[in-house]
Amino acid sequence: MDIRFEGVGKVWPDGTRALADIDLHVPAGQFCILLGHSGAGKSTLLRMVNGLETPSEGRVRIAGEPVDKRSLPALRRRIAMVHQHFGLVQRASGAANMMAGALPAMPLWRVLTGLYPRAVRTRACTLLHAVGLEEAHLARRAERLSGGQQQRLGLARAFMLDPAIILADEPVASLDPALGHEVLELLRVQARERGTTVLCSLHQIDLARAFADRIVALHRGQAIFDGPPAKLDERD
Ligand code: ADP
Ligand code: ADP
Repeated sequence: MDIRFEGVGKVWPDGTRALADIDLHVPAGQFCILLGHSGAGKSTLLRMVNGLETPSEGRVRIAGEPVDKRSLPALRRRIAMVHQHFGLVQRASGAANMMAGALPAMPLWRVLTGLYPRAVRTRACTLLHAVGLEEAHLARRAERLSGGQQQRLGLARAFMLDPAIILADEPVASLDPALGHEVLELLRVQARERGTTVLCSLHQIDLARAFADRIVALHRGQAIFDGPPAKLDERD
């Protein structure tokens, strides 16, 4: 599904402005990186796609439909999120964390009782392998996994939904460079091979250059560059 930001702006209740005049169309299957320093507005923009923030001006459309109270429940079944600090329930098993990824499409009682349909279990194992983890990791509590393993679990959880859109908010900021490359590569493959639209925030220009189909650079809430990595010059 494609994402369209139409004249999007955000002013916080205290009067500070986080975003101004954002007009972007992210086509389905694109790996689009939002590049910018801390405070540039990346997270706010990402969170508007799944309704965690609402624009003060303009609107966001997904597959042509405005993101609003009415459309959000259905949209959330197609949008997954990946977080900087992994967003896992630390005391819960890898399996429980994975199943939580399927929650928008599965009743809560299944996660609470651990009675998952066989197809869902099989899918969890397939996806776990796809991100380079083993079934043994499913039994372990999330807190017992390394940072790299936790983020891979975070990705596998996101893939559980077979999402049309993945929002990744600084997904490699807590990882060392080699692991960061692996995570970005998994996201790139997801976009390329499964047609998932991936909107990912980063603050490292070299990583954005190496992995993105497209870079949108944000500076103080404004898009100051929008184009393929090859067009981004050395300034900044
Ligand atoms: P980034 O993700 O690029 O680091 P953010 O989108 O988190 O940037 O923040 C953009 C601006 O909005 C910053 O100035 C930040 O301090 C401010 N901000 C973020 N969230 C809130 C909030 N809930 N209330 C007030 N200001 C906020
Ligand atoms: P297929 O290629 O027919 O989709 P796979 O063996 O690759 O089958 O995957 C098995 C199941 O897991 C399918 O339902 C597929 O949609 C899903 N799947 C596999 N990899 C991913 C992924 N990276 N993201 C989302 N779904 C995936």
